[in-house]
Amino acid sequence: MSQQPQQQFENFTASSLYCDKCKAAMPVRERLLLVLPDKEIYDYLCTGCGSSVGSREVTAGEKMMAQAMAAQQSRRRRRVPISL
Ligand SMILES: [Zn+2]
Repeated sequence: MSQQPQQQFENFTASSLYCDKCKAAMPVRERLLLVLPDKEIYDYLCTGCGSSVGSREVTAGEKMMAQAMAAQQSRRRRRVPISL
């Protein structure tokens, strides 16, 4: 009987990041830190000790891409480009 080594990967919104305090890769929580006209800045907090282990910037363009992809996946509406 062979046992396959299984690694546990859970699908969180953000992946694990290395935490200096915990000295290990820890699952992180995403927190909206700052909203700017053209981008949003997210902070990643270690779920173990609560300290910030990183940040991410989401530009307006990236957000639009994500929204467009979500719209494509749901396939509710189809927008036809109008050429004049
Ligand atoms: Zn930590």
